[in-house]
Amino acid sequence: MEIKAAVVHEKSGKFVIEQLELSDPNDDEVLVRIAAAGICHTDLAARDMYLPIPPPPSVFGHEAAGVVERVGARVTKVKPGDHVVLAWDYCGTCSSCRSGRPLSCLDFFLHNFHGSRPDGTPTLHKGGEVIHGSFFYQSSFADLALANERNVIKVPEDIPLEILAPLGCGVMTGAGAVMNSLHPRPGASIAIFGVGNVGMSAVLAAVVCGCTTIIAVDVNPNRLKMAKELGATHTINAAETDPVQAILDITGGGAQFSLECVGNPKIFRQAVDVLPRLGVCGLTGVVPPGTEVSLNMDLIMNARAVMGILGGDAIPELFIPKLIDLHRQGRFPFDRMIAFYPFDEINKAVKDMEQGRVMKPVLRL
Ligand SMILES: [Zn+2]
Ligand SMILES: [Zn+2]
Repeated sequence: MEIKAAVVHEKSGKFVIEQLELSDPNDDEVLVRIAAAGICHTDLAARDMYLPIPPPPSVFGHEAAGVVERVGARVTKVKPGDHVVLAWDYCGTCSSCRSGRPLSCLDFFLHNFHGSRPDGTPTLHKGGEVIHGSFFYQSSFADLALANERNVIKVPEDIPLEILAPLGCGVMTGAGAVMNSLHPRPGASIAIFGVGNVGMSAVLAAVVCGCTTIIAVDVNPNRLKMAKELGATHTINAAETDPVQAILDITGGGAQFSLECVGNPKIFRQAVDVLPRLGVCGLTGVVPPGTEVSLNMDLIMNARAVMGILGGDAIPELFIPKLIDLHRQGRFPFDRMIAFYPFDEINKAVKDMEQGRVMKPVLRL
């Protein structure tokens, strides 16, 4: 069928909206009419070829919400007309998936970065040419997208679809890092390095968890202001103040939990250096493959932990509805981060995000 999609034709190139042909759904697939798609740094990392993905031309987009248009013969989870959020795909049969950690799937690349379905068949063409798609088994910078039954999550219909789009990656990643991986107890202290979409979601989750010291660190004053409005008890502008000393002072010896949401070795080091004994540092920031960091080994041996966290270690089908419930109760106002753009302003949305003017651009399809 004919679709309208944003295609990247060269490394770091612009997004070009054009007509493509999308395959019909296989037996286990779901065709979704996309209502809204968030732009995430991973889309831009893919555009810039930082990720192990096939070369362009490609269609990205992996934070979408929409309405089920058609389902394959064996799909029972959703039916046409259902509202859904699209999340990451996974195999469902490896040891990670079988132990309830699907976003740490051992076959993650095959299911999300293969440029085609996991079996290698392409879903997107232009004339005779194959366009790489199935990004996170969706490629949702398009008005129609093909997902797998596994990575569509049915959501309630009383919440506007367009605000739900970022739940499938950025918000799930930040909130899940706190609620699923670090799980601080009420009264705990946490320092969050980088309060973009992921870090700000972590701030909101820290409030939900009952943390009483929530320190947001960034260099963007607007983000720090929003972090304060959304529940951070302290903010540190790292361009003006040494965050390590400031956090040690605020907490009287260290933050029990820290979270690196930037993807920068120097900041990761700071996030580890603020831990007291029994402190845990989570890492969600994405870096180019092969990036190394130097840490104080003696400090870590003295009862500190460092943990890499993928996708907030969520089970999306269970976690996303929980976040929607919290939002409905007014306890998780993640929509405050969103700025909406029409689909044909995708390049402006990307630029505004890269320049720090907006936190979470969401395209309306
Ligand atoms: Zn798996
Ligand atoms: Zn993402």
